[in-house]
Amino acid sequence: MSTSTPTSNAPVGGVAPTGLALEPGLPICQTDLPLDWYQPELRPYAEEYLALPDRTPESVLPWLDGYVRPAMEHFGDELLLLAHFYMGGEIVKLVERYGGSVSDSYALALQARAQPEKKVIVESAVHFMAESVALLANEDQAVWITNPKAGCTMEMLAKDYMVDPAADMLLERYGDELMVVAYMNTSGRIKALAGRTGGAVCTSSNAHLVVDWARQQNKKLFFVPDQHLGINTAARLGMDLERLVTLPDPRRGAFRLEDVDGGLAALDQAEMLLWGSECGVHTVFSADMVRWWQARGWRVLVHPESKLEVVELADGVGSTNFLWNEVVQAKPGDRLVIGTEGHFVRNARREGKRRGFEVRHLAEAGTGHAASGCGCATMSRNDPPHLAGILDLLRKDEAPDICRVLAGDSVDERTGRRDRLDNTERAELVRHARASLERMIEITEAARG
Ligand code: SF4
Repeated sequence: MSTSTPTSNAPVGGVAPTGLALEPGLPICQTDLPLDWYQPELRPYAEEYLALPDRTPESVLPWLDGYVRPAMEHFGDELLLLAHFYMGGEIVKLVERYGGSVSDSYALALQARAQPEKKVIVESAVHFMAESVALLANEDQAVWITNPKAGCTMEMLAKDYMVDPAADMLLERYGDELMVVAYMNTSGRIKALAGRTGGAVCTSSNAHLVVDWARQQNKKLFFVPDQHLGINTAARLGMDLERLVTLPDPRRGAFRLEDVDGGLAALDQAEMLLWGSECGVHTVFSADMVRWWQARGWRVLVHPESKLEVVELADGVGSTNFLWNEVVQAKPGDRLVIGTEGHFVRNARREGKRRGFEVRHLAEAGTGHAASGCGCATMSRNDPPHLAGILDLLRKDEAPDICRVLAGDSVDERTGRRDRLDNTERAELVRHARASLERMIEITEAARG
């Protein structure tokens, strides 16, 4: 049985295939989830999956084909499968095997708009990514997520009911002077907040462009939610880091502006205010880890959600697409250390093995053994049974509404349940959130010339 990836190298909607292929005999990297993790509608697919003799492509692919191929035939060209680079369980390779696209959150968000002929869009990633697709989709394009419990922990610490009270206090104090810049890792509700204040969305690849643009508007900037990307961006732009103020840890609950470090005086003098969330995957890296590898002649590349001390020492810093391009361009004999999500590094390591260069994970410093480590556990809640189940249920017109992604949904990732806006509220939210996304696209495209 062939397990190669039958995709061409032509970019689809601006996204080029990774070309990663499943390896015969090598078990799929997947922690089997307990059955009670699945929605009742998806549980039968999980039971079948758990009953397979092993996780090798030889076992999994014929089972998966039995559900995915009929759905592909049923929907034809109207079906679009999407996955993020960080997906575990070989979903990246599986999605490409079925003709889907794999990329970072910026490129994924543009996919519905780039391919208006796609009417059924199924994403294996976290909720904010699927919602970003939905925000830019046409009305006749329906977006689905394979597992509604898949959330980004950084976004989960910046829900609208956490950020809005702080934004209200800041708006009361600074009025029209306040401008919100929302990182892509936010819900549509926070992107709409950015739009309402005249602000923009940004990603890790264009945060410097967006913040630079925002500073030129002479506003009081409020960067949500990643404090580290905010600090790294400020450092890149030469801003005075002493005049950054990080708001209290959102896990501590409500606060008053007077409680912020330095009090109201610090807030008034701040060049930029930062929401206090972060990514648990990227903040495990330390400057000592970078030094350890560099002392042994390795080139260290990191993602800008890492801490400033790590970013300042690294040999290269950039978005997930930047990191993958470095892997694509690596030459035989190169030695790369990558500080980002573990499944991504695992795929890069295999690519290096195939093409004659070495890749290690930054967190392996001093451990003496290879480990994929630091995976995005919440994103990996999307697994082969979720993919098979949602596609089969969509084909039968029985897909659970809990997997349907509408702009403005607020998701409880413990249950997967969503608080849904009514049509009028949603239209209003889409208008503001789109404005902030469009602004980002304009700023980014203008910089590209
Ligand atoms: S790696 Fe971090 S920022 Fe990215 S989706 Fe996972 S938790 Fe969110």
